[in-house]
Amino acid sequence: MLLILAATTMLAQQWQAGAAKVDITPEGPIWMAGYAARTKPSEGVLIPLHAKALAIDDGKKGRVVFVTTDIIGYPKSVAEEIAIAALKQYKLERSQLVLNASHTHSGPVVWPNLATMYFLSDRDRLNVEVFTRKLVSQVIDLIGQSIANLKPAQIEYATGQANFGMNRRKPTPDGIKNSPHPQGPTDHSVPTLKVMDAKRNLQAVLFGYSCHNTTMTGEFYQLNGDYAGFAQAELERTHPGAIALFSTACAGDQNPNPRSSLENAKLHGHELAEAVNATISRKGEPLKGRIQSRFQMIDLPYQAFGRNDFESDLTSNNKYVVSRAKHVLKMMDNRSISHTLAYPIQAIQLGQASIVTLGGEVVVDYCLRLRKETNTPNLFVMAYSNDVMCYIPTSKQVEEGGYESKDSFLYYGQPAPLKGEAEEIIIDKVKALLERVKK
Ligand SMILES: [Zn+2]
Repeated sequence: MLLILAATTMLAQQWQAGAAKVDITPEGPIWMAGYAARTKPSEGVLIPLHAKALAIDDGKKGRVVFVTTDIIGYPKSVAEEIAIAALKQYKLERSQLVLNASHTHSGPVVWPNLATMYFLSDRDRLNVEVFTRKLVSQVIDLIGQSIANLKPAQIEYATGQANFGMNRRKPTPDGIKNSPHPQGPTDHSVPTLKVMDAKRNLQAVLFGYSCHNTTMTGEFYQLNGDYAGFAQAELERTHPGAIALFSTACAGDQNPNPRSSLENAKLHGHELAEAVNATISRKGEPLKGRIQSRFQMIDLPYQAFGRNDFESDLTSNNKYVVSRAKHVLKMMDNRSISHTLAYPIQAIQLGQASIVTLGGEVVVDYCLRLRKETNTPNLFVMAYSNDVMCYIPTSKQVEEGGYESKDSFLYYGQPAPLKGEAEEIIIDKVKALLERVKK
């Protein structure tokens, strides 16, 4: 009896993991996300798009589910809908769910992400709304499947390296230009969670990288997951039965280099898959102890804006300025406008490993600063998580200007760029949240 009790207790305290994936490729032509200049819907599929989930449970009521997805980004409304269903159906608290996007620019529009950037016909608008509705139900089911698949597991955390990410904020006499800047900061680390079953067979691998998933540029019309899609497909080919999950890190001001060809996307995908393979081929220390998680919405201040600016914008020759003005004036009429941005942050302690998730297109300095200032050299940061509503620049970048700190806020339909203070607010709040999960 004692033996049975002891064995039951051991099993109950053992870490478990479960992975699942689902094909989310739209059935017909659909408007593609990310590049404003596209003139027609998609034409066929190069490689299928997926949503994938990895559930990890510490056997002591600590649990987390990571969802990674071959899409441009989860809008807040979509993420909230999934999170509410996950709470109701699977008792997953908000802090126990991560919704990360690969930020592929060769996938469909996820409505209403970047809604003011596209000028869709009724038919194209309907198609992206139908895709989004289906995505929501697929991801809710997927989360349940990953939990249903939980079984005893050994999980290790290690960091690899890939070198194709390059800074894209090039200083010129006319200001910052969106162009390769080899001297600028980068983060070439590839944080990797290796998940093995009780027999040490690879069950899943979750890896991240700080680089825009934009090797394929706007002239490509075949749906695909870009370099991250190729990396995941290669890993699943070379490890039959395992599920490979890619999460975007602080990629805001990082582009793949070189880019603009299918061959480049395949090469970058291969380099990333090789980096993951090299990392998981080493035997590491199994994660043990507790899983703790916290989620918080914080307020980031916008720069000053007023109704008059948008009323005069309505007569602009720039269609994006007009589109943003209409959007903001409507929000002002509905009294749904705020002078601060509601911004999601999350901290997860997975035994000895620490994970931070951040909303939006976070620039690379956040990954570098957080690792250094939290004294966590192996911190796994997942940006593009739980809402992708704008870029998240540093205070220095706000002063410098350029796409990430100023121009992009127009395409995101935001009333104004963020103030430089946003950086310290985020860093301070994330540090505090990390302290709470480390206790
Ligand atoms: Zn982007």
